[in-house]
Amino acid sequence: FYMQEKQIFVMEYSPSIVQIADVRIRMMQQLHADIEAKRLSVVFQPKVELETRKPVGCEALARWSFEEKPVPPDSFINIAQNAGFIDQLDLCIAEQVLEKTHLLNELGHKITVSLNMSPSEVGDRKFESQFLDKVTQTNLEIDRLEVEITEEEPVRDYEYLSEFLEKLQNAGLRIALDDFGKGYSSLMHITKLTVDVIKVDREFVNDFLHNRSSAMAIELSVALAERLGLELIAEGIETEEQETKLKELGVRFGQGYFYAKPMPWDDFVNWLNTHADDE
Ligand code: C2E
Ligand code: MG
Ligand code: MG
Ligand code: MG
Repeated sequence: FYMQEKQIFVMEYSPSIVQIADVRIRMMQQLHADIEAKRLSVVFQPKVELETRKPVGCEALARWSFEEKPVPPDSFINIAQNAGFIDQLDLCIAEQVLEKTHLLNELGHKITVSLNMSPSEVGDRKFESQFLDKVTQTNLEIDRLEVEITEEEPVRDYEYLSEFLEKLQNAGLRIALDDFGKGYSSLMHITKLTVDVIKVDREFVNDFLHNRSSAMAIELSVALAERLGLELIAEGIETEEQETKLKELGVRFGQGYFYAKPMPWDDFVNWLNTHADDE
């Protein structure tokens, strides 16, 4: 019923089964209400070119608090998925992100902006048209927009998913496979879906300096990306040593606490202003 993080979260509420169920239901209702009222917030984490450490993009990440306490995204994303309104959550985030993409453009920052999408919602034609409508309405340089496909479940309908992704690509968006190498995000996807970017999962980056199989997973991902002509980015870079070794393995782009944590919009713009190339 509960995943680990949620257990930690509900633990604070002296957990009898009834109380746990009650908290879960109240969280679900509050989350839904906050999405409808557009009260979810978004933070931005830079993506850099490893060689120069200059920003090339950013990832938009959803943030939500329940009873004044921040809830880990994996938890509330999971709640929204199970309750069947992850599509509304992602649209709520997309709306804010499109607005900010427009602003970045006006500020002269030529970087990509990525948002996350869970394929479980991508079986829904209503979502498809709502999302594409929003994208086209915003009237921006769409080739800077990227959708990261993340998931915890096996894809139910590959045909539909690849059709949807193709529509996004035809509209000018780039598609990234998130958490590559972990769980269900793997070779299967690469063979069945047309993507532009591979995002190596941060668990490999976390221990590849000491773990031979993680190092091999990264090496193989780099080779695969080269072979298929895809861009590759490593997430979860926390140390300079990781950066150095990743560059040696042929990784060009990265993201992680070593460069910057996810930040609220104003801080992110300040960060960009001090780190971007003067043009
Ligand atoms: P993700 O898409 O793989 O996002 C990267 C996660 O790694 C983020 O966690 C980010 O804060 C974290 N991270 C970045 N650099 C580092 C690092 O150096 N070390 C470590 N340990 N972590 C790092 P976050 O924000 O907790 O998000 C968790 C997941 O929730 C995301 O994983 C994504 O799958 C999902 N998510 C977040 N926002 C959305 C959204 O708007 N829609 C959907 N569908 N999913 C979302
Ligand atoms: Mg992501
Ligand atoms: Mg993920
Ligand atoms: Mg990821």
